[in-house]
Amino acid sequence: MNTDEIIRKLEQLNIFSSELDIPEVQRREMANQVVDYTNTFINGLNKTKGYEKKEIGNLAIQKNKSSLTGLLNKYQKEVAESGINAASPKHLGYIPGGGVFTAALADFIAAVTNPFASAYFASPGAATIENEVINWLKSVFSFPPNSVGNLSSGGSISTLIAFTAARDKYKIKNELITKTVVYLSEQAHHSAQKALRIIGLEDVIIRYIPLDINHRIIPKKLHELIETDKSYGLNPFLIIATAGTTDTGTIDPLNDIADVAEMHKLWYHIDGAYGGFFILTSHKDLFLGIQRADSLIIDPHKGLFLPYGVGAVLVKDANAVLHSNYYTANYMQDGHNEELLSSPANLSPELTKHFRGLRVWLPLQLHGIEPFISCLEEKLLLIAYFRNKLYEIGFCLGPEPDLSVSYFWYPFETDADEKNKQLMNEIHKDGSVFLSSSIINNQFVIRIAILAFRTKKETIDEAVEMIARCLKIVLQSNKQ
Ligand SMILES: *Cc1c(COP(=O)(O)O)cnc(C)c1O
Repeated sequence: MNTDEIIRKLEQLNIFSSELDIPEVQRREMANQVVDYTNTFINGLNKTKGYEKKEIGNLAIQKNKSSLTGLLNKYQKEVAESGINAASPKHLGYIPGGGVFTAALADFIAAVTNPFASAYFASPGAATIENEVINWLKSVFSFPPNSVGNLSSGGSISTLIAFTAARDKYKIKNELITKTVVYLSEQAHHSAQKALRIIGLEDVIIRYIPLDINHRIIPKKLHELIETDKSYGLNPFLIIATAGTTDTGTIDPLNDIADVAEMHKLWYHIDGAYGGFFILTSHKDLFLGIQRADSLIIDPHKGLFLPYGVGAVLVKDANAVLHSNYYTANYMQDGHNEELLSSPANLSPELTKHFRGLRVWLPLQLHGIEPFISCLEEKLLLIAYFRNKLYEIGFCLGPEPDLSVSYFWYPFETDADEKNKQLMNEIHKDGSVFLSSSIINNQFVIRIAILAFRTKKETIDEAVEMIARCLKIVLQSNKQ
């Protein structure tokens, strides 16, 4: 193709290709429209249900162009108004989300400016923000300055990074795998076993550590299991403790478990995905020993109420993390002289990624830490309030939780599991507040998890009213 022809074709293509770079007037108009939409959404949160089950319409990508107004309407109907409303104060199931508004603003800025936060040489400022968030986390959890960390998409990927480092440090491979033992509680989150499978450790031996009546690991039993395994010539490797279990809100005795891990020289991992940030509250004593972990995961998209998509991992041994994640490539040679540990990509399976640091950094700078702590303290009081209220109307309660998750059931005289299931169904049908269920000690129970920053006393009152209303329906239907 000759140069004139190239120029002519480029001019033709530009008519369409330049449409992606929209002019300022339109940028402002669209941004305003989106802000108006989100304002309406937030203003409606107290009036809308926590859960709505419905059929989803056509969301396939269309050949013809659509207007933003049309698409926002569709979004509202098909996405915002269906399923669990995770931005709502009324999300009290699983582990509630959040969606702090200032984090959304940070995401907007990050997406528009689009710095390459994974490599220090590409964006020293963005990489530094990522690293300062990690530094802040190290100080919150009293991890030493020479430990490393990474901002991931969430707890599951954080666990993957931690376990891979553990695997490589302890050289768990080949025939050693089937002799290797991992110790955990049956209340440990399923992402732990999923991570083991993904990193090629599916065939390790899993030992469930006996728990006390509060669902806490019994350190002495853990010690005994390890001793027995050693006497059989097995290879004890990894202990997983949880600082805030998903089902029961329990914190394992972290410091006593650290003693056991240290004595036997095992890798000690703590899962603080749900509960970690409660270390900032009046319950901080329960976290004693957390700094002794070899690896720790925490989820800012849970305990800091940020929008989904930001987790964090801290690991003491930098070399163990570098072993699996640090790679060089010819096309990246321009960055070689920069500091190894300043580039997040060297500590993560991800290379290119969303600049997540900003959505943690900006809200913390704008609001300060105090409002976050107050929100967490509120949740601790609200769970106590909820339990008192439910007890008053005849429910049985699980043990007093360490944090803001608890479970309960109604003591129906016969077929209690079946009828509590029925009660759960009624609650989902009602949907004014969303709760979820679980099986604990072979019993069907209903769970409440209070973590959304917008959840206040009024929400809990509404939940109790709803539960009482649904109980009435179940009791009535079983009379006939
Ligand atoms: C939510 C959770 C996880 C998994 O984290 P994701 O961010 O959902 O990947 C792991 N452990 C615990 C205790 C959790 O509550």
